[in-house]
Amino acid sequence: MTKITKDYKKTIGLDLDDTIINHDQNRRKISQKLGLPESDRQVKKTIYTEISLNCPAIKGSIETINEWLNNGYKVFIVSRRQEDGQDFGRQWLKKYLPRIKSGHIFFVNKDEDKSIICSENKMTVFIDDSLTVLEHISRQTTKILFDPKKKFMTKNYSPDIGRVNTWKQIEKIVAKLS
Ligand SMILES: [Mg+2]
Repeated sequence: MTKITKDYKKTIGLDLDDTIINHDQNRRKISQKLGLPESDRQVKKTIYTEISLNCPAIKGSIETINEWLNNGYKVFIVSRRQEDGQDFGRQWLKKYLPRIKSGHIFFVNKDEDKSIICSENKMTVFIDDSLTVLEHISRQTTKILFDPKKKFMTKNYSPDIGRVNTWKQIEKIVAKLS
């Protein structure tokens, strides 16, 4: 009799903006145009509109995500984009990551709400560029802080949050998870 062992399939949760979509260029442009700092709410609101459709992906993200999908892993997107930007987010994903199931794309209202999606879908790992988001997620999920600009290098945060600067590092950590 052949013993059938079901392969362990990882479930991976990902933030969208500044984790997969690279808004750097638009952020700079809009901030100059409006004469406001890059962190200003108005700048933030503007970059998530139609102009976001032309944003590139963060280096290595698309290749890694497709590799996970090839392995049969489940990939979820959990974003905090407000209603006026959600459709553009879906359109961007359709263009660059068409293999992500539309039912695996979630938009939530608050940072804390991402943790609910994580628990409900028993996520193996969640990757986000926001520390606040990760601090709300339970310990059952491995938490990775994506920090390409090394903003959090000197900050204090929970030791169960891993910090990386590149998608290459994300790929390595996820490969080791069991
Ligand atoms: Mg983000």
